[in-house]
Amino acid sequence: MVSPESLVRSHLKAIKAYSSARDEYEGEIGVFLDANENAIGSVTQTQVNRYPDPHHRKLKEAWSKIKDIDPDRIFFGNGSDEPIDLLIRLFCNPGTDHIITMPPTYGMYEVSAAINNIENKKIPLTENFQMDVPAVLAQITPSSKMIFVCSPNNPTGNLLNKQDVEEILESFQGIVVIDEAYIDFSSEPSWITQLSKYRNLVVLQTLSKAWGMAGIRVGSAMADPYIISMLEKIKPPYNLSLPNQQLAREAMGNVNQKNEEVDLILFERDRVKVELEQFLQVKKIFPSDANFLLVRFEESKPIFDHLIREKVIVRDRSSQINCNNCLRITIGTKGENDQLIKLIGDFYQA
Ligand SMILES: *Cc1c(COP(=O)(O)O)cnc(C)c1O
Repeated sequence: MVSPESLVRSHLKAIKAYSSARDEYEGEIGVFLDANENAIGSVTQTQVNRYPDPHHRKLKEAWSKIKDIDPDRIFFGNGSDEPIDLLIRLFCNPGTDHIITMPPTYGMYEVSAAINNIENKKIPLTENFQMDVPAVLAQITPSSKMIFVCSPNNPTGNLLNKQDVEEILESFQGIVVIDEAYIDFSSEPSWITQLSKYRNLVVLQTLSKAWGMAGIRVGSAMADPYIISMLEKIKPPYNLSLPNQQLAREAMGNVNQKNEEVDLILFERDRVKVELEQFLQVKKIFPSDANFLLVRFEESKPIFDHLIREKVIVRDRSSQINCNNCLRITIGTKGENDQLIKLIGDFYQA
C-alpha cells in the first residue's frame, strides 16, 4: 500500500501553514479588529469588506453531503487548475521528478508541470483512446511521482476502462490523479467511492462544466485526509473569494436543476450526433461521456474556418496526437446546436 506521507516532498513535511487572523477566532459574531479590514464597509453595493473563510467550511459541508464523503477528504481550489498545480508542487521535486500523462488529454497537467520544472512523460492513449497500461507501467521509475488520468477524457470524450484504471491504482507506487471534470455527464459512477481503498488516489471534480459555474473558478480535489491536510497547508490562504464561496454554495443547493440541465445536454448531444452523422464529410464521431463531441471531418480546417467566419467557435484539436482532422464541439443550447448543424449543412451543400 502506497503511503502518501512517504511521497510528499521532504521540505514540505513539517511546513507550517500561514496562520490567518480568522484562524484564531472561529465565531461569526464579534467586533473584528484583527485583520486590518475596513470596518465601515466596502465602496461597492455588495459588501465584501471581510476576509472569506480560508477553510471553506460551509462549502465542504454542502459538498460532503452531495458526494457522500467526509469533509476532511475535500479540498477546494480556484478551479481544478489550482489543485493540479498544488499537487505537482506537493509531490514532485523540480528538476528530478516527473509526471506521466496520456495524450491526447487536458493541457494543464503539462503546463503546470513545466511551470514547476517537472518533466512530463507522455504515453499516448491507444487509437481508440484507451490507456496503454503495459507501456505506462514500463515507463515508471522511482522519479515517477504522479499519473494524470482524465476520465471522461478531454478532448476525446470517452471514459477510460475501469480495469485499466484499477491496474494503475494497484501497481503504481505514486499518486494517481483522476480528473473527473465531466463525471456528471457520464454513465459510470465516480472514483470517489474508492478513496478509502486507495490512499494514493486523488479525484478532481469541478463546478465549471455540468454545474454551469465556470466564471467563479471553484474546483475540488477529493483524497485521503493526509493529502487534503497538506494541500490546505500549501494553498494561498484565501484562495476562494467570498462571492465565489457564496455562489458555489448556492449552486450546491440546486442539484436538481443541475441534473435537469445535464439531461437536456445529453439529449442534445445525441441529437447533434445523429445530425452530424448524415454528412458524408463527417468521418467519425467518437463515443462521448461528456458534454462535447470529438468529430473527425474529411478536412477539418475548411469547416473550422467557415464556422469561425459565421461566429460559431469550436475547438480545433487536429494537431493533437491521433486527432488529425478533429474538432471538439461543445454541446450548446438547442438553438445554438441547430445553428451549428445548419452552417455545416450550408457549407457542404455549397
Ligand atoms: C475544463 C477542465 C478542467 C478545468 O476545470 P476548472 O475547474 O475550470 O479549472 C479540468 N480538467 C479537465 C479535463 C477539463 O476539461
